[in-house]
Amino acid sequence: MKQAFADTDHFVALLGTKGGPAIRTGSTNPTSSLAVLAGKPVVIDCGLGVTRGLVDQGMALNDLSLIFITHLHSDHYLELGPLIHTAWTAGLNTPVHVFGPRGIDAYWRNFVASMKDDIELRIDDEGRPDLAGLVSFTNLAEGTVIAESGFEVSVFRNAHPPLIDTFALRFSTRQHKVVFSGDTTFLPALSEFSRDADLLVHEAMLNEALDALVKRVGNTDDRLMKHLLRSHTLAQDAGKIAAQAGVKALALNHLVPSDDADFGEEDWRQAVRQHWDGTLFIGNDGMRIDLSSL
Ligand SMILES: [Zn+2]
Ligand SMILES: [Zn+2]
Repeated sequence: MKQAFADTDHFVALLGTKGGPAIRTGSTNPTSSLAVLAGKPVVIDCGLGVTRGLVDQGMALNDLSLIFITHLHSDHYLELGPLIHTAWTAGLNTPVHVFGPRGIDAYWRNFVASMKDDIELRIDDEGRPDLAGLVSFTNLAEGTVIAESGFEVSVFRNAHPPLIDTFALRFSTRQHKVVFSGDTTFLPALSEFSRDADLLVHEAMLNEALDALVKRVGNTDDRLMKHLLRSHTLAQDAGKIAAQAGVKALALNHLVPSDDADFGEEDWRQAVRQHWDGTLFIGNDGMRIDLSSL
């Protein structure tokens, strides 16, 4: 079957841009992204909504071959199993390689076990290939995890307590370099990892909106605010990383909050502008950033 993307396609699409797993009326989706690098589609994180987000970008699901999961918080992998299963029902018949933290393969085994009746039925009744056999896993660790000619992926352990296996990713082709921060507290070392990238996709939260957010959530105690402050990055600090790294453009994703009508795009811009006056994208679901135009 014809591939959906051409060698001349170089873009990043932000499919889900809210931080955290909950969705509400009118909210955006949890985290997932598609990078198309010299026509090769790479899925980064699989929060709720990833499958619909990919097809809305024009991707044929049977082209699914490479997935990265940055860490095991549900807003980043809740839909990994459903994505692969749905791709299988859409005609997937080629290997899928998943790079993720230790434990991601156990998630997959348990997902397949939970869908055992349906999967066996479709193999027997519809002649589908063996789903489990199509998928392989590599545990992420720091360093270079893919080094093909014209396509390299390197991995950096960020800081997102209490998790330990939590990673930033850097994708390099002959034409472009793209870095995803993953979920992380402000980590100055990320500017070195992001050096001279065309695009840095960095998580961000808006300081002045956090008190209202904790009140709105309602069913937690002061641990939620403590978690936010020690595990995530303020928008102005994401700007600082971009400036120190000398990237061409910064895109904010994993926005916290994403659904407070009292705060909008201008608030995010103002926060980032304290340290970064270059090209800035405030992430929105479905936003496509053409790397060749940066
Ligand atoms: Zn997250
Ligand atoms: Zn997280």
